[in-house]
Amino acid sequence: MKDKVAIIGSGISGLSAAYEILKKSDKYKLTIFERNPYVGGLLGSINIDGHYIEVYYHHTFPDDDQLYILMDELGIRDKIRWETGSVGFLYNKKVYGFNTAGDMLGFPVINFFEKIRVGISVLAAKKVKSWEEYDDISAKEYIEKVWGKSIYKKLWAPLLKAKFGPNVERVSASWFIRRIQLRSHRDTKGEKLAYPEGGWQILIDRLIEEVKKLGGKIKIQEKVKKIEKKENIYQIKTEKREYEAKYIISTIPQPIFNQISPYKIPDVSYQGCLSVILTLTKRVQKYYWLNISDEDLAFSVMVEHTNFFKENPYPFHIVYLALYTEGEELTKEDIEKKREEIIASFKNTFNIRDEEIIKSFAYYSRYAGPVYETGYKRKIPPKKIVGEYIWIAGLPRSYPERSINDSISQGIEVAQEIMEDII
Ligand SMILES: Cc1cc2nc3c(=O)[nH]c(=O)nc-3n(C[C@H](O)[C@H](O)[C@H](O)COP(=O)(O)OP(=O)(O)OC[C@H]3O[C@@H](n4cnc5c(N)ncnc54)[C@H](O)[C@@H]3O)c2cc1C
Repeated sequence: MKDKVAIIGSGISGLSAAYEILKKSDKYKLTIFERNPYVGGLLGSINIDGHYIEVYYHHTFPDDDQLYILMDELGIRDKIRWETGSVGFLYNKKVYGFNTAGDMLGFPVINFFEKIRVGISVLAAKKVKSWEEYDDISAKEYIEKVWGKSIYKKLWAPLLKAKFGPNVERVSASWFIRRIQLRSHRDTKGEKLAYPEGGWQILIDRLIEEVKKLGGKIKIQEKVKKIEKKENIYQIKTEKREYEAKYIISTIPQPIFNQISPYKIPDVSYQGCLSVILTLTKRVQKYYWLNISDEDLAFSVMVEHTNFFKENPYPFHIVYLALYTEGEELTKEDIEKKREEIIASFKNTFNIRDEEIIKSFAYYSRYAGPVYETGYKRKIPPKKIVGEYIWIAGLPRSYPERSINDSISQGIEVAQEIMEDII
C-alpha cells in the first residue's frame, strides 16, 4: 500500500515538493490542499483578456539557480527573458531616474556628499559575508551608523516605511544588508532581472500538469481546518471532508499553522498586501520600478510591468499599485474602498484620465510576507516538527527574504527528507 502525503498549500513550494516526490518515487499517494480557488499562492495569476498577469509583480535574479534548473527540467527555461529593470524615484510628485551616474548627479533627495557616502555604503553592504550576524540590530540603527542619519531620514526611512509601515523601526539589518546584496547585479542602465514569456503562470501550469500526470491530486477550495493525530496517522480535516496522511508538508504561514495544528511553532507578525492592477491605454512614466518617497499617496509601491520589456508584448499597458497592510484581515468593503482611494491617488499624481484606464483589479492577501524584525532568525520554524512526520517549507522559513527560488529549494529539500523517511 502507498504511503499518503498531504501537502498544505499549492504555492510554488508545495508544487515543487509534490513534483519532486512524484517524479522520484511511486511509493506515495499525494494530495495538495489549497484554500484558494486557484493554484500558485502568492505567485498566482489572473487572466486579463487572454494574458496571464501575476496578482503580485514578480521578477527573478541571476543567482536564482534552483528556479532555472526546475524550468529547464520542465522544458520552459527558454521562455525566460532577461531585461534591465530600470528604477525611478517619485519625489515631490516628480519622477527621477535612479540608474545611471547622470541620474545620480541629478537626484534631488540627497546632496553630493551624501551621494558619495551612499556609493561607499553600498560597497560596504556588498562586502558583508555573514549578514546573519546583524539579526539583532535594526536596519535603522545600521543605516544611521554606516550610511549616516541624514541618508536614513531622507532616502531610506520613506522607502522602508512604504514596505513595512508601522513596523519600520523593527526591521532587522540582516534583511536590509541581504536585500542590498541581492539587488546589486547592476550595469550602468539598471538591474538584470528575469521574467518569462507568458508570465509565471507557465511554471505553475507545467507543475500542475506534471503533478497530475504522476498521479498527484490537487484539491482547490479545500481549506485545511485541523490536523490531528490518531494512532500514528494524521487526520486532516478540511472544510469538505476528512483525509488521512502518514506525512505532512505544511507551506502555510506560522499563525495559520498554529491555529490548525496541535504542534506549535514560533509565531511571527505577517503583513498583508493589497495589489491593484490596472490596464491602461498609455504608458504612465518610463521606469519599471518606481520607489515612492511621497508619503501622502494611497499606495506605496508602483511597478509599471510593461516597462520591463523593450517591446510591450501586451495590447495594453500594465501598472501595479500596491499597499502593505497591518492588523486585521481586510473585508471586501475595505478592499473596495482602498482600491478606489488608490486609483484616485494614482490618477491625481500622474494626471491620468478615466478613459485611459481600461480595467482595474484588486487582489489582497493577509499573509503576503513575514515582518523580518530583529531576532527573526531565532523564530524561524524548524524544518521538521521533532518526533513527527510534519515538515515545514516555503515562506515561513524564507530568511532574510522570501523568494520563488527559496521556496522551490525548500520544497525539494523536504521532499527528499520524506523519501529518506527521516524521523
Ligand atoms: C507583493 C509581492 C511581490 C513579490 N515579488 C517577488 C519577486 O519579484 N521575486 C521573487 O522571487 N519573489 C517575490 N515574492 C515572494 C514570492 O511570491 C514568495 O516567496 C513565494 O511565492 C512563496 O511561495 P510559497 O509556496 O512558499 O508560499 P505561498 O505562495 O504563500 O503558498 C502557501 C499556500 O497555502 C495556502 N493556504 C494557506 N492556508 C491554508 C489552509 N488552511 N488550507 C489550505 N491551503 C492554505 C495559501 O492560499 C497559499 O496558496 C513576492 C511576494 C509578494 C507578496
